[in-house]
Amino acid sequence: MAKRQLTPKSEDMSKWYTQVIQQAKLADYSPVKGCMVIRPNGYGIWENIHDALDPLLKGLGVQNAYFPLFIPMSFLNREADHVKGFAPELAIVTHGGGEELEEKLAVRPTSETIMYEMYSKWVQSYRDLPILINQWNNVVRWEKRTYFFLRTTEFLWQEAHTAHATHAESFRMVMDGLEAYRNVAEESMAIPVIMGRKSNAEKFAGAAVTTTIEAMMPDGKALQAGTSHDLGQNFSKKEAFNIAFQNKEGKMDYAWQVSYGFSTRTIGALIMVHGDDDGIVIPPKIAPTQVSIIPTEQDEAIMHRCNELLVNLKKGGIRAKLLFDAEHSLGWRMNESEIEGVPLALVLGKKELEANSVTAKIRYNHSQETIDYATIESQVQAMLNHIQQQMFAAALKKQKELTSSTESYDEFKNIMKTKRGFLKAFWCEDETCEKTIKDETKASTRCLPFIDKNGQVAEEKGTCIKCGKAATHRWLFAQAY
Ligand SMILES: [Zn+2]
Repeated sequence: MAKRQLTPKSEDMSKWYTQVIQQAKLADYSPVKGCMVIRPNGYGIWENIHDALDPLLKGLGVQNAYFPLFIPMSFLNREADHVKGFAPELAIVTHGGGEELEEKLAVRPTSETIMYEMYSKWVQSYRDLPILINQWNNVVRWEKRTYFFLRTTEFLWQEAHTAHATHAESFRMVMDGLEAYRNVAEESMAIPVIMGRKSNAEKFAGAAVTTTIEAMMPDGKALQAGTSHDLGQNFSKKEAFNIAFQNKEGKMDYAWQVSYGFSTRTIGALIMVHGDDDGIVIPPKIAPTQVSIIPTEQDEAIMHRCNELLVNLKKGGIRAKLLFDAEHSLGWRMNESEIEGVPLALVLGKKELEANSVTAKIRYNHSQETIDYATIESQVQAMLNHIQQQMFAAALKKQKELTSSTESYDEFKNIMKTKRGFLKAFWCEDETCEKTIKDETKASTRCLPFIDKNGQVAEEKGTCIKCGKAATHRWLFAQAY
């Protein structure tokens, strides 16, 4: 088939990535430069990410709401770092209904400003706090070149924005939000991540502290998979959005704020981490189709059994799909299931019918098993669970192989030229050293890793990898997407 001209991942991951996304029908280029179309196979993954993450956010007391797509330019100007960070990527509306607007409107790059304008109206007393609101929406940050999922002008995400009476409470939310992201990345998407905090140069525009989960791609480059920001009182202070309230002691104070976001960018990580030379591989928990049922031929008895199997698996809550149409050969259908990354294919033909069995093809390791038809539902469920665990274990092994530590800058430079990956090294926390390291090795500080879920970090004694001055923390460096 002409269709299967897939560059092997092992040969050229970047080429493979662009091709596999189109061949697996996850996404396509759109007529609008910088934007992509997310096709049903890709959107199905996003829906399952939503279904994994949304209950975790609701478990933190966060409720969903919706705010306008347009933001008055004056709002963005109120927090100086925020506008400076986002100005170069803004799309700005100057006309509406055929008339020039009195005030230009930005298409939201993120919703802090429009939401906090409302929060300032809703909050007067400590009794009005906390405010715990999330939006599932789209945002626009201008890009000239599309790189599917990883870099597009418009992308989908959720953005949670909370406001609290004390910093202790808001910081708890920063960490709880980050833990929800770790949970979805590791338990649902089978992508191991490192949790930590960003350096000042790498933090979100307007944040006091940015925390992150960082994933490692098979080519040795890191990908920031989700961030949770301690905004302090930067947006709530008088000269910004004035979210002032009377505290329990009757004194005026400003709300402590948090924002955190998780986007369709993580689908890019999923494709890179799990895919292989034959296509994408999706972990069962978020696979739009978990099981393909493939009859070998159009035979009444075989089709009858396949349909019976489909109904029974669906009844058991398994997302199963019958892959049959008279137009396509058995080989073509097996290929479809493979390239689209369906975790498990169940093949049924005359041989299987006679033996009262089914041939199960496991996508991630290309193994094959014969399973007894009588107990198929429980076996399929157990296999899906096992595949989920094994895919995470394989990704974790790869992440560990791509993590090293060094105290020599020569070695640092050499690693960044060869296998790359995460590199732990002491850094003095001076921005000049950080910039020089980045210029010389393309490696940025990804994070200072946490050692627990309260955001504690390890204190050590060492010397900066670049300048030799005293350093107390080993940072995680990597080249990044
Ligand atoms: Zn230094």
